[in-house]
Amino acid sequence: MKKGKLIYEGKAKRVYETEDKDLFIQEFKDDATAFDATKRGTIRDKGIINNKISKILFDLLESKGIETHFVEQLDDRQMLIKRVEIIPLEVTMRNTVAGGMARLLNLKEGLVLSEPVLEYHYKDDSLHDPLINDYHALALGMATGEELEFIKKQSFKINDILKSFFEHKNLILVDFKLEFGRHKGKILLADEISPDTCRLWDKETQKKLDKDRFRRDLGGVEDAYQEVLKRMTA
Ligand code: 5GP
Repeated sequence: MKKGKLIYEGKAKRVYETEDKDLFIQEFKDDATAFDATKRGTIRDKGIINNKISKILFDLLESKGIETHFVEQLDDRQMLIKRVEIIPLEVTMRNTVAGGMARLLNLKEGLVLSEPVLEYHYKDDSLHDPLINDYHALALGMATGEELEFIKKQSFKINDILKSFFEHKNLILVDFKLEFGRHKGKILLADEISPDTCRLWDKETQKKLDKDRFRRDLGGVEDAYQEVLKRMTA
């Protein structure tokens, strides 16, 4: 598939048109940013690892009946995806308190939630992706009621599938962020699922094996990403 015009460049990925108007190419970069791009760096081979991890997880979800934008892996850094119109909501699923939820409610990181928590954040870096609810999303026309119901149902299903998958790899799925998009009348899971977008802790030691190592200057960032991939493919 030939790469066409660059149509989007984000913090960690580029998206290109192809000769097929319904298909895009998503390319994963090694660039890493945090805190609305006020912290910048590169994580060696992150793009290659996140491309592989996302492929494995999209395949897993598809096998369990979740429709995603993933078509096929093209090479080390690129995957072919279905063209979607991204819904401007970041859906966060949380199983254990960390990050934003710990700060918002002054809770200790590591508190295991009695049931998963779903949050919507409005996708806008200049506003720091603010926490919103269904009523904001509906009233501001970000998604229809039917779309929100579907997104909610899919997000809980995805959480069940991923939590159990990672548990078998001795990893705790603390939380993660999802994005969805519209494609030919359907809502597909889009973007990526990787240690950039998930918090993953070792089950025994609670060691962080995700982007928090970069965000919080914990060191061993590359090794953590490699370790996640190694466990996933073991
Ligand atoms: P928090 O709201 O605690 O900062 O993030 C919750 C989860 O969603 C974490 O796993 C985090 O990695 C992911 N997440 C939330 N917003 C973003 C974002 O803008 N970019 C990335 N890469 N991940 C995000």
